[in-house]
Amino acid sequence: MSNMIRLASVTAHSSVDGPGLRTVVWFQGCPHHCVGCHNPETQSVDKGYCVTMDELILKIESLHNKKITLSGGDPFLQALPLLELVERLESLGYNIWCYTGYTFEECLNHPVFKACLRHMDMLVDGRFILDQMDHTLMFRGSKNQQIIDLKQYFELNTINDQSQWYLVE
Ligand code: SF4
Repeated sequence: MSNMIRLASVTAHSSVDGPGLRTVVWFQGCPHHCVGCHNPETQSVDKGYCVTMDELILKIESLHNKKITLSGGDPFLQALPLLELVERLESLGYNIWCYTGYTFEECLNHPVFKACLRHMDMLVDGRFILDQMDHTLMFRGSKNQQIIDLKQYFELNTINDQSQWYLVE
């Protein structure tokens, strides 16, 4: 049976959540409670709205953009729906970026989280840390956050943090 998923919203044509114009799926619910959170209305697990996975895929496909970013909230808080979503998006040919407040290492140590990573292209990891906020960073808010090439990690077993590629000139 297909999973239900709780969302805050779906937006089209974002230019600040990964390279290029991207569809963004904003998950509802986040356990991290970072001070200075950029999106505090997405932290509650009771707000937002629920859709079936089929409804979400139809919505995404209607936007005709194969670049997609999963953000929130924390997508990994709904790990089983997230796994179904990324499996289906990968099979449909999407380039998938995902944001999480968990570190890459925390994700690797959780079997379902790790299974999700295998179907994504890039992960922006780690909690937002106000003391490490830096406006010269693109696609992330604080210096502790890494931009991990997941395909390279699973093919070569090396961590390629591409954060240095994404600095404001
Ligand atoms: S992980 Fe992101 S959404 Fe969650 S509290 Fe931190 S900044 Fe906010």
